[in-house]
Amino acid sequence: MSNIATNLEAKELNTNNALSMSVAKIDQIFKQQQEKAISLRLSTLEQRREILKRFLMVVERHQPDIIEAGKKDFNKPESETLVAEIFPVVHEIKHTLKHLKKWMKAKPVPATKATLGTKSKIVYEPKGVSLIISPWNYPFNLTLGPLVSSIAAGNTAMIKSSELTPNMSRVIAKIVKEAFDEDHATVFEGEVDVSLALLEKPFDHIFFTGSPQVGKSVMAAAAKNLSSVTLELGGKSPVVVDKSANLKKSAGKITWGKFVNNGQTCVAPDYLFVHEDVAEEFVDHMKATLVTFYGDNVKDNEDYGRIVNERHTQRIKGLIEDAVQHGGKIICGGDVNICDCFIAPTLISGKLADEGFINCTLMQEEIFGPVLPIITYRDLDEVVNHINRNHKPLALYIYSETNDVSENILCRTSSGGACVNTNMVHLLQSNLPFGGVNNSGLGSSHGEFGFKAFSHERSVLEDKLTATALMYPPYTGTGSGTLGDPQDTYTGT
Ligand code: NAD
Repeated sequence: MSNIATNLEAKELNTNNALSMSVAKIDQIFKQQQEKAISLRLSTLEQRREILKRFLMVVERHQPDIIEAGKKDFNKPESETLVAEIFPVVHEIKHTLKHLKKWMKAKPVPATKATLGTKSKIVYEPKGVSLIISPWNYPFNLTLGPLVSSIAAGNTAMIKSSELTPNMSRVIAKIVKEAFDEDHATVFEGEVDVSLALLEKPFDHIFFTGSPQVGKSVMAAAAKNLSSVTLELGGKSPVVVDKSANLKKSAGKITWGKFVNNGQTCVAPDYLFVHEDVAEEFVDHMKATLVTFYGDNVKDNEDYGRIVNERHTQRIKGLIEDAVQHGGKIICGGDVNICDCFIAPTLISGKLADEGFINCTLMQEEIFGPVLPIITYRDLDEVVNHINRNHKPLALYIYSETNDVSENILCRTSSGGACVNTNMVHLLQSNLPFGGVNNSGLGSSHGEFGFKAFSHERSVLEDKLTATALMYPPYTGTGSGTLGDPQDTYTGT
């Protein structure tokens, strides 16, 4: 007993020592990055491009280490690491190298009636020292993707990667160390307390990717310093399969979107509505697709990943059990092995009219695992009402061959992004902003939108020949109101 107590005390002491070392390091790096950030205000297009090219080279050199870390952390299949971790970062760098010149250019804006005789432009200035906090589900992509935007916009970055994927965090730290000087970008590995210590600092911008719950704490911490924030959060992204949909193709795309990375994707289809006339045929296509994807023995299939840890496996098992207790029917899968962090691809059917099922935890919490509730419906209005009664999702997917149906759903709902007749692919389209709305996020990322998230849009007005004198006191004769249309005239303080 006393040995256990001594071990626990020693562990606590080690943790405390590690944290105080981290805090000291955070203080030191923050000061250095503040100085560097001022000098980076003068950084040219060519200097930023050179840094990004070096970054790209280091990422490409470490490709085998990234794949190995994904395998070790949660059995991420090599091709999923290549496609969903490495490719998006490489693409983000290349896209940025191609377009940065245009993004950095000041944008002239025309004079208004009230400002005739002036010249105005919007200048994209670096915000300064940025903080990037990332999750574990796509740890490489979601840490280094925002870093590309931060660096391209001329900032420095302090980075907190997830403690749940320690192998990938180590590789990320190594890559950043090789590609950047410490006063430009530094990774802090460690537990949540490291994140909390970082959040004490008055960052110029905080880019957080993670759950809505932690997002609220991050925003509260940012408020203390009035740091601006981008919050890339999660939630329950619904799918609607209308009776006009191409069922076989829809089943293929939805099965991929749901079960890639073992369902641990922020924009994965969370739950699905299917019209009752086509529900049976649609489910048959999904079952057949699962066999095509993973064979008859999914457990031993190398292409099927695992849940990140036992705690999350237990959580998802609880969701399945709760759904069954509330009227859900397992129509495929349901096998769980906690020690192996394995959950078979699981389909659970339920009815929209069944209040018990609709209010069960599986239908209330973000699932973030390989379980898909399939709910039959008859009246599209009820589907829209259900979506609108819940938090605005990160994504909404509609499968329909009838344009009126998809337009009707799009017009009456709100979500961060949406796809018609596919899912998740919108996040590969760098010319679209990627992000959520309210509970699913704030602000957006990718391409120019990521660059702008890390830039301050500064208004610069130069006086050439204005009539400012018309506004001087005393306010008699030619005073206020003589500049023309009041709609177009500045009247504030
Ligand atoms: P999380 O919110 O638990 O953790 C994210 C990061 O925040 C981690 O680095 C963690 O160390 C840190 N953290 C945890 N608790 C903290 C606290 N109290 N204060 C400060 N920092 C804290 O999320 P997760 O479990 O790593 O990831 C899953 C969630 O992320 C899901 O909700 C998913 O939808 C969401 N997600 C969103 C996107 C997107 O782009 N919108 C992408 C991936 C994941």
